Amino acid sequence: MSETKNSYENLTYQKKSFYEIFADNEAMIESAYAYARDYMTYLDAAKTEREAVDASIALAEAQGYRPYRLGDKITAGDRLYYNNRGKNLFLIKAGTEDINNGIRIIAAHIDSPRLDLKPCPLYEDHGMGFFKTHYYGGVRKYQWVTVPLALHGVVILNDGTSVTVTVGEDDADPIFYINDLLPHLGRAQGEKPLNTAIAGEKLNVLIGSRPLSDAEKDGVKINVLKMLNDKYGITERDLTTAELCVVPALKARDVGFDRSMIAAYGHDDRVCAYPAMTALFECADTAHTDIIILADKEETGSDGATGMQCEVILDLIDCLADSLGGKSSVIRANSKCLSSDVTANFEPNFPEPFEIRNSSIINCGVSVAKYTGSGGKGGTNDATAEYASWVRNVLDNAGIVWQIAELGAVDAGGGGTVAKFLSKHNIDTIDIGVGVTAMHAPYELISKADLYEAHRAFCAFLRA
Ligand code: MN
Ligand code: MN
Repeated sequence: MSETKNSYENLTYQKKSFYEIFADNEAMIESAYAYARDYMTYLDAAKTEREAVDASIALAEAQGYRPYRLGDKITAGDRLYYNNRGKNLFLIKAGTEDINNGIRIIAAHIDSPRLDLKPCPLYEDHGMGFFKTHYYGGVRKYQWVTVPLALHGVVILNDGTSVTVTVGEDDADPIFYINDLLPHLGRAQGEKPLNTAIAGEKLNVLIGSRPLSDAEKDGVKINVLKMLNDKYGITERDLTTAELCVVPALKARDVGFDRSMIAAYGHDDRVCAYPAMTALFECADTAHTDIIILADKEETGSDGATGMQCEVILDLIDCLADSLGGKSSVIRANSKCLSSDVTANFEPNFPEPFEIRNSSIINCGVSVAKYTGSGGKGGTNDATAEYASWVRNVLDNAGIVWQIAELGAVDAGGGGTVAKFLSKHNIDTIDIGVGVTAMHAPYELISKADLYEAHRAFCAFLRA
């Protein structure tokens, strides 16, 4: 009987819940919940990539990290950060061992789907003032109507002054809103497919309705412009070059009677960025060189100077090689990378696009994806069996609760990550991240257990 049980245990692969594995270890569960509280504080401070860079720098400076400029000499033991245009951050811990042994890299992204203001956003229609938006990343547009919204961003004034705008986060602030039809008159709209019922050009953000009393025309618009000018010195012309983002005005909250989950805007991919960064801080004593990359523009394809496809990563490795006496090509060949991005949790209410045997299950730990892609693994990185099994051993030896997972059923859809933009530099790379429920929704959901196991997995990787 027990022999049969043993051989079943030994011969099969079974996913196990964090709560089953640590059923007798209340301290472990409490540690996961405590870690989640700090993560939620970070989330609320970091709703855009710019804010994530600022919040991350604050944490890094508290750990002794200091700014790095390309070309500066690096010494073994240095803790540095490279701030790329305020939107992409590299945390670098220069190790004491031979740099040619390679670097440990964990790459996550800090941009999230949202609504960006168009260059000429402001207009007035039948008594209501609006901002026109162009959505950023993959959003389900119907989810963004009638939810509280906040405005975050940067406006550079004519004289070069940079003005930071944040409206809708303080409880005393107003919020913004996107109108929808009432059910009584929503019959025709309700018959449209979900993807087209709310068109992109309908995502106009309501920002006011009170006209300036002595305005000749466009009183609501002029009143808003006057208020913006009084408070920030902004004119409509300044908006043409601004970066203003509309994000949900929602704070991270515990979910469930047991408080085992967190709902928040932007888990994807701060739920990997934060554990990667804190793993670097926690594993300060390792001998090899580590880089944590917090990338921008993943949600739109990783293009541009702040996306993972920018070659600044190669420049930084060149700087490390020059300073520490190595060769870039050798360093890259010997480096190991985790592309840490979220995956989709199996969804019991909508199981159709999932394949249960290969899906991420909530609370079964951090999810490793050997490959991503869509339509026959299109666009995949597909880690080698050798590297995937090396990672598997690292996680197992450290007692990490982890699971293997694929994003969804074959041909149900799919997605990519930054993995292929690192592996193309001859760096072994595998995807690993936290399972998310309702990914890319204004309010996404994750498990505290899975978050904590991501952090512990990144620590195990940096220590291996
Ligand atoms: Mn992501
Ligand atoms: Mn995403």
